[in-house]
Amino acid sequence: MRRPVVAGNWKMHGSRSANQALLTELERRVMPEWPVDIVVCPPYVYLADAVRTLEGGQIQVGAQDVCAEAGGAFTGQVSVAMLKDVGCRYVIVGHSERRRLNHEDDALVARKFTAVLQAGLTPVLCVGETLEEHEGHRAEAVVSRQLDAVIAMNGAASFAHAIIAYEPVWAIGTGRTATPQQAQGVHAYLRGRIAQQDAKIAGQLRILYGGSVKGGNAAELFRMPDVDGGLVGGASLSADEFQQICAAAALRDAVRH
Ligand code: PEP
Repeated sequence: MRRPVVAGNWKMHGSRSANQALLTELERRVMPEWPVDIVVCPPYVYLADAVRTLEGGQIQVGAQDVCAEAGGAFTGQVSVAMLKDVGCRYVIVGHSERRRLNHEDDALVARKFTAVLQAGLTPVLCVGETLEEHEGHRAEAVVSRQLDAVIAMNGAASFAHAIIAYEPVWAIGTGRTATPQQAQGVHAYLRGRIAQQDAKIAGQLRILYGGSVKGGNAAELFRMPDVDGGLVGGASLSADEFQQICAAAALRDAVRH
């Protein structure tokens, strides 16, 4: 059985005091026996604080992005070695906001994925189609293209050490969630693409759904056979919501049918 993952993408939110309060509350609410990998991804400047606060506990820390370069004259950027140095274990690459607002293309995302993998951290590769692509029934073509760029550079075997997050762009921060069946369809397709090259790795690969996941809809999404947890934006800023989502992931095997 694949162990579910719930990762919170805080985006550009938080402050030292608000983060401290949120993390302390989360630690109090998350049950150590829950069989879930739980990750929070604060902005860069708060990563070290978060690692310190969460040290020895169940919740791990991830970053929202990374520079593809190892170091040098890249003003304003942060390398994967730096993320590792402060105690990050996961790194989101290819989030749609970075693809759109920072013009990151598939090749750059693939290079970031490589950098994270080579450092021994876990990349969380985001893929997903825009509303226009969705309405044009091009979801599978788009996620294939995004996935293929990473496979071309790293091979399908690299997914033994990575996580995929399917995040339909039209569902991010919009309150419009993909139906469980829509999510399942794309997740099964992604798993099938990896299976064409390596069935064992495909069977073990965790594929998360992201896009307006909340306490109220997490259970029905996680009940789908190929949905292995969630990448959560807005709801990860509320201890109450995030706890409910983590609990839904922990209980999914009991409610799957
Ligand atoms: C995200 O930022 O990756 C995300 C899925 O956001 P939200 O949950 O707010 O839609």
